[in-house]
Amino acid sequence: MTNKIGIIGAGISGLTLGCILAKDSKNCTIYEKSDGPSNYGAGISLSPNIIRLLNELEILEKVEKESCLPIDIVWRDNVGKVIREVNVSEFGKLITTNRKILIKHLLDKYLSLGGKIEFSHELVKIKNEKELLFKNGNEDRVDFIAGCDGIKSFVRSNYIKNDSPKFTGYTAWRGIGTSDSKRINIYLGPRSHIVCYPINNSLETSFIGVIKNNARINESWREEGTHDQLINDLSDYGDFIHSLFKSSEKVFRWGLYDRNKLNNFSKGIITLLGDSAHPMMPFLGQGGAMAFEDAFVLGRLLLKIPSYNKVQEKYNDLRRKRVNYIKSSSAFQGYVNHLTNPLLKNVRDYLLKNTNMAMRRTKNIYNYDILEKLI
Ligand SMILES: Cc1cc2nc3c(=O)[nH]c(=O)nc-3n(C[C@H](O)[C@H](O)[C@H](O)COP(=O)(O)OP(=O)(O)OC[C@H]3O[C@@H](n4cnc5c(N)ncnc54)[C@H](O)[C@@H]3O)c2cc1C
Repeated sequence: MTNKIGIIGAGISGLTLGCILAKDSKNCTIYEKSDGPSNYGAGISLSPNIIRLLNELEILEKVEKESCLPIDIVWRDNVGKVIREVNVSEFGKLITTNRKILIKHLLDKYLSLGGKIEFSHELVKIKNEKELLFKNGNEDRVDFIAGCDGIKSFVRSNYIKNDSPKFTGYTAWRGIGTSDSKRINIYLGPRSHIVCYPINNSLETSFIGVIKNNARINESWREEGTHDQLINDLSDYGDFIHSLFKSSEKVFRWGLYDRNKLNNFSKGIITLLGDSAHPMMPFLGQGGAMAFEDAFVLGRLLLKIPSYNKVQEKYNDLRRKRVNYIKSSSAFQGYVNHLTNPLLKNVRDYLLKNTNMAMRRTKNIYNYDILEKLI
């Protein structure tokens, strides 16, 4: 197999795929619509299934240095009362960081391997199957296309399935405030939940507060809101949370969108990865993890198998079941987190406190080793 692989999008999946291909001197280029690396600061937690891939990419140490290793995970009710505490060592290791740190180290790695990237290259058309046309007027010809262009994927909507993201009724607030807690705190309130964790050792603490009120909000990382709106939306929580909100210079809100499951992530010479293939609710913190896993699978298969069709078949086989399971589980977790019926809430809290059901599922997700599947 020859030729040139075009990667559309320099997010988590695009940069990871680029690193794998560039390490083996495969001819590839990443085309990114923004004019530089993504700088949007939201917290992301790195679970063991991502950590082992960062290690494989040889950037784990660097990411870890600029991040935080939380001590435990604490589930609480909306007034802060502890429901369950679990030491992180139960899961191996968790790293909490800022998405822009992750993107920075992935990009540095890709460039150090001699990888090529074109910023300000927004794909607007694929002509004659192989010719990429960009908004800036440039064109390029490739032999294989990896659609890594996120939830609003142009590649997916125009060349795989003519669908578009649907609003789920959830609105998520996010910000980065200050706190000296080294814990991952998860607050479960009626119709809402909040997740907070430190993202480095300088007290910076990321929070995401999710409500379900069906008020339509854009899918955007840049839409600012006000502290008053945020506190009003999450008024069921006490001062301990509101003071964290107030310590964030800016607060952002975005609507959570989803797309239907696909039976096949490929068509012709195109294959989708990450959120373009299977966006999911962020309630299990696995959207980025799936983007990493996809990129490892597709990258390693492209290096190993000399037929694009066979690569795509195998990729579909290896990924579909896992991502569909996590996508459904993430959606269900939203329902569980936002229960309002007092009886069901009591059952949820009882199970969380007295059984290991939730831990077992989490461990199953985290222990999955995609590298073993690729041997
Ligand atoms: C606040 C928040 C917290 C999260 N926390 C976690 C977490 O803790 N753990 C976890 O695993 N996941 C988490 N996620 C999910 C995770 O961030 C996403 O699932 C992941 O970023 C998807 O990666 P991707 O490569 O598919 O797409 P993205 O990272 O969205 O990248 C897509 C890229 O494509 C570019 N692009 C788009 N259209 C075009 C075009 N036409 N031409 C060229 N370029 C284009 C975009 O500019 C962008 O750079 C979180 C998400 C959010 C929003």
